[in-house]
Amino acid sequence: MSGAREQPELVAKEQRAEEQRGEGQRGEGQRAEEQRGVGLQDAFGRLYTPHRMAYIQGEGKGEGCPFCAVPGMTDSDGLIVSRGEHCFVVLNLYPYNSGHLMLVPYRHVSGYDELTAQETVELGTLTQHALRTLRHASGAQGFNVGMNLGGVAGAGIAAHLHQHVVPRWGGDTNFMPVVGQTKVLPQLLPQTRDLLARAWSEI
Ligand SMILES: [Zn+2]
Repeated sequence: MSGAREQPELVAKEQRAEEQRGEGQRGEGQRAEEQRGVGLQDAFGRLYTPHRMAYIQGEGKGEGCPFCAVPGMTDSDGLIVSRGEHCFVVLNLYPYNSGHLMLVPYRHVSGYDELTAQETVELGTLTQHALRTLRHASGAQGFNVGMNLGGVAGAGIAAHLHQHVVPRWGGDTNFMPVVGQTKVLPQLLPQTRDLLARAWSEI
């Protein structure tokens, strides 16, 4: 049985040796590329936010529209909090704050003035319900609500309209986003989705 115990160590040793060999073979240029988005080594500490990296590298920005794909997923895979008749409610994958929700029409339209009357009404009622849910589930004290229409206005996915609802708490902004351009999110997205999906139907 001692052999079985030794094996993982052996494997780890081989991996380390392989990594070291790999290091030696890489040129400066390749090493710099591996640091893309992380920066060159310096005196500062790093808080890694791999979800931001996926965003920067364009995941979900390719051919398919993520807002058209999400309703085809399960609620937990798509981080869907609730499905209405014309619009759905989904957690933002790249949130500004914990519980950052988006209200999205199923139809792939970019303009608010392109929504039908039913879509407009449901977007409004879902927004109201989102406010109540976030207040109930997480004690949100305020909100930023709105949409960025068009790329020049800051829309990440301009082709498919979406309304943001960002819960706010007193003192939720600290030096990190201001100086460090990094948001610290204390809760994982699947946990937040579970919490909000429960609260959504409770109230
Ligand atoms: Zn779409």
